[in-house]
Parts: sequence; C-alpha cells; structure tokens
Amino acid sequence: MIDLLPSQAERWQKVEALARNHFRRAGLGEIRTPLIEHTELFSRGIGETTDVVGKEMYSFIDRGDRSCTLRPEGTASVVRSVIQNGLLSQGPQRLWYMGPMFRYERPQAGRQRQFHQIGAEFFGLSSEISDAEIISIAWDFLNDLGLQELTLEINSLGTTEDRKKYRENLVAWLENFSEQLDDQSLKQLKQNPLRILDSKKAHIQELLNGAPMIGEVLCQRSQDRFLNIQSILNSLGIPFTINQKLVRGLDYYCHTAFEITSKQLGAQATVCGGGRYDGLVEQLGGPATPSIGWAIGLERLLILLSEDYFKKEVPEVYIVNKGCKAQIEALKLARDLRKSNFLVDIDYSGSAFSKQFKRANRSNASWAVVIGDQELLQKEVRLKSLKGETIDPGEHFVKISDLNQIIERLRS
Ligand code: ATP
Ligand code: MG
Repeated sequence: MIDLLPSQAERWQKVEALARNHFRRAGLGEIRTPLIEHTELFSRGIGETTDVVGKEMYSFIDRGDRSCTLRPEGTASVVRSVIQNGLLSQGPQRLWYMGPMFRYERPQAGRQRQFHQIGAEFFGLSSEISDAEIISIAWDFLNDLGLQELTLEINSLGTTEDRKKYRENLVAWLENFSEQLDDQSLKQLKQNPLRILDSKKAHIQELLNGAPMIGEVLCQRSQDRFLNIQSILNSLGIPFTINQKLVRGLDYYCHTAFEITSKQLGAQATVCGGGRYDGLVEQLGGPATPSIGWAIGLERLLILLSEDYFKKEVPEVYIVNKGCKAQIEALKLARDLRKSNFLVDIDYSGSAFSKQFKRANRSNASWAVVIGDQELLQKEVRLKSLKGETIDPGEHFVKISDLNQIIERLRS
C-alpha cells in the first residue's frame, strides 16, 4: 500500500476531476458506499471460485462476531446499495463511483494491495445503445486524457443457455488435453472452466488457440445483439477488436464483455474491464434488473500519463515581505487574494529582498507583491511584474486597503 504525496496527489486530482466532468456531462450520479461490507456480499456477488474471493480478500471478524471484508471491487457494494435504498423502483439508474479497493495480491508495477478504481454502472437499461454508451464513456474519458495505443476488445457471452452449451463443448475438448494443463487449469476445469480462457500461462494460451470458441454456439438473438453493438460502435467511430477469449466465469455475466488495454503497460495491460451482468441484482436479493458496468484502475492510468500532461501549477502571486508586521500584512493579503481565487505563496525566510526575489522568480509566479518597512509606512504594497511579456511591466504602488485595485492590477 502506498502513500500519495503532494506531487502525486496533484496528478490524481487532475485525473479525478476529468472523470467527474465526463460523468456529469453524461448525466451519471455519484454513489459512495462504505469500504467495509459483510464478507457474504462478495462471496455471493463475485463468486467463491474467483481469485478475488478465494485468495485476495482482506477479511476479519469484528467485535460483534460478524465476518467483514474490505471491499475488493465496487460493483457488489453498489448493487447492495441500490437494492437496500430502493433506487431500482425509481427508473433506470446511471451511477459512478471512485475510491480505494483492497486485494491481497503480490505487489508489482500496476498492482497494489490498496488500489483505486473509477467505475460506472447502469441499472435498468437493456438496449444495445446502453452497452455502447457506457463503453463510449470509458473510451472518451481515456482518450480525453491523451492516452494513445488503447485497444478496445469486446466479446459476447450470450445467454445462460449459450454458456451452458459452450461450457460443455469446452470441457469436452479440454479433457483431451488434460496432460498439458497446469494444476490451476485442472482445478478450474472442474469448478469454473471458462476461467481457463483467462490463464496468464503462455503454453495454455497456445493450446487454447485450437479450442472451441463461444461465438460458435451463440443463439440467433445473442448473435444479433452482438452484431448490433458492433454496428453502433462503428457508427460512433470507436475502433474495437473481437476477442473470443474474453470471458467472465460467473453465471450472472451475459452478452457484452469488454476490456480496454494498453501495450505500454506490459503484463498488467488492462486499464478498464467491464460487462453486462443482468443476473446479479436478482442474485443479491433485488428485482431482476438488466445491468452493465466497468471499472478503470487509476494506478495503471497514472502510469500511462506522460509528464507533459501534468504541468505543475505555479503560484500567480509571490509575496515578498520582511519584518513581523509585514508578515502579518502578507498573510492578510494572501487570504484576501486566495478568496478571489489567486494561487498565492508567501516567503517565510525573512532574508534580504534580493534573495526573496530570486525565489519568487524560481517559483515562476507572474507577480511579486512586496511588503517592506517602506511600504508599510506608506500603507502601500508594491506590485512587480515578474514576466517580461506583460503589456504594462514595471512596478506599481497600490494602497494596501484597496484590494480591488490590487486585484485589477494582478489580472492585467
Ligand atoms: P487483472 O487481470 O489485472 O488482475 P482483474 O480482472 O482482477 O485484473 P478487475 O477486477 O476487472 O481486474 O478490475 C478492473 C481494473 O482494476 C483492472 O483492469 C485494473 O486496471 C484494476 N486493478 C485490478 N486489480 C488491481 C490491483 N491489485 N492493483 C492495481 N489495479 C488493479
Ligand atoms: Mg486480478
């Protein structure tokens, strides 16, 4: 788990602000759920046979003897919340969330034990347009960040019937090659065979190139739905490739599955993962509700963003001052200017003006405001432009009490 220091936090804020902006314009509402839930929510909502539930959860028994878990992802909590708060009877819900998630994994680049996700979920929308819209929100946000070399991969998992048929075909085929499967895949073959398609082992992936694919068994309705989504994405000018190995092992996932990956990320290539989960709300005790969502890993996004994306914010005003009285005036003025939205730094050194001016220049501020003995005597401040290119360079004396004129000068 890592600390975010100011230089990093500034970057995070910029990315978070852009995400909020995209969600606001798309009419999504924010939902904030607790970091701790009953363990059972995740074992039912994510599934006992997944890595997340099987070996990655931070669980503990609380003082009331209940098994609790630090949330490893956002969807289950959001589903619990919309059921518990009766939101599903109020028409379709378009929601987003952002915050820390916890998984006991081996830490490495792009993989932490506390990490952060930005996510979006739609409830009560079943049309292909809603699939395309929620994908487009992720795509547009990532592109707006200036990320290049992103690949959108999509697949269809069809209906429950389609997957049942596919599971049988896949298991029958894999059983011919059981001597080539590793321990993990052999276990999955019994518990959750679709997850073998997700194996990170190269020899398994090679073997799977000959395996039956889900596209071969999709019923007409599922095929039409998938084709329609492809045609909408084409109309929107969003490029995609079909990856038939992109699956989710759990029964409530259906139809659309998608991922956005970046080659620049190496082994941890997935920035965004999502899909349709029409069966989950019902599975967690709510009314049957078509649902679709995605989650973006923020740490991986931050790795991808170039240095130029984050130009450090520089102060607009640097207050040069000397003496106890001047320091108080400097702080008063800083507060007034900050109220008017200026970024203001105060020099704390009490050193010679020449040294303070050097620092003012180094801070890249546009203006130095000088408060010294002479100025105090005259009840004035001296405004000195630090940028040669201003129309009206040079020095100005303004009454310290005339805040409006000070602001007017600084804005010129
Ligand atoms: P992976 O295959 O990389 O483990 P996942 O399938 O476990 O991913 P999801 O549960 O779909 O991931 O989570 C969505 C996104 O959250 C991922 O695409 C990734 O960007 C991010 N993410 C998941 N686990 C971590 C982690 N431990 N550290 C940092 N980011 C993570
Ligand atoms: Mg994982």
